Amino acid sequence: GDALAVSARVAPLGSRLVLLLVEDLTEARRIEAVRRDFVANVSHELKTPVGALSLLSEAVMDASDDPEAVTRFAGRMQIEATRLTNLVQELIDLSRVQYDDPLEDSEPVRVDELVAEAVDRCRQSAASKQITMATGGTAELHVWGNRGQLAAALGNLVENAVNYSPARTRVGIAARRVAAPGGDLIEIAVTDQGIGISEKDRERVFERFYRVDPARSRATGGTGLGLSIVKHVAASHGGEVTVWSAEGQGSTFTLRLPEAGAARDRERPSPGDT
Ligand code: ADP
Repeated sequence: GDALAVSARVAPLGSRLVLLLVEDLTEARRIEAVRRDFVANVSHELKTPVGALSLLSEAVMDASDDPEAVTRFAGRMQIEATRLTNLVQELIDLSRVQYDDPLEDSEPVRVDELVAEAVDRCRQSAASKQITMATGGTAELHVWGNRGQLAAALGNLVENAVNYSPARTRVGIAARRVAAPGGDLIEIAVTDQGIGISEKDRERVFERFYRVDPARSRATGGTGLGLSIVKHVAASHGGEVTVWSAEGQGSTFTLRLPEAGAARDRERPSPGDT
């Protein structure tokens, strides 16, 4: 109603304005559609493990005189419960990075610590696939931001690199400082020799719940939320995340973030200033 009234009022001002307004409405409608999709997706993703748990608990009751079957069903219940926990945790992470202002808690964060933490988080899954992890160039670099959010973002990229790579491959994490007009940036690149991502999927992998291969993602405990969290964190820190990939050869995800020194100088007046 309001929108129509406004568009009637601005119509005489020229077709440019009307066009802008129509684009605005289209954007509002698009956001609304994304929100609806999100709720539908969350419901579906929650119902799947809950439904499985319900069926499995019935199966346990029916199999009470068969201890082996009980153990088997209990094992599968554990997998479903883990999936549910992962999903809820990622939903919490996503809402945190969407609604918290990272700059409130920002500080200089050591890149070598972030990288070490991300590598640590994946140590077990990498070892079980004999994936070698190599890091380089991280010494002496600091990014400006919210430590928890940055750790979650980098952790997600490294986790994906391990998850979507075959056994006995290599995951590399390299950092460097690059000059940029608004102040130096720190670039952290996570490179794998995994399955790669086709050109048409490359644009979409940062969308919430988008997975190239849902079955494969689920098998590794994936939720389809990881990269959307990374994208939010990068954007809210004034940075970006990009992907390069060749199908069947591997991918490189590159996170660019403001350097601590550069960002701090921009954000805070020096003590002499009033
Ligand atoms: P998921 O929890 O499924 O890993 P993400 O949002 O982290 O969700 O990633 C979305 C999708 O992008 C994944 O399901 C996978 O298909 C693809 N993907 C992400 N990282 C990689 C990678 N390093 N190599 C190949 N495909 C990847």
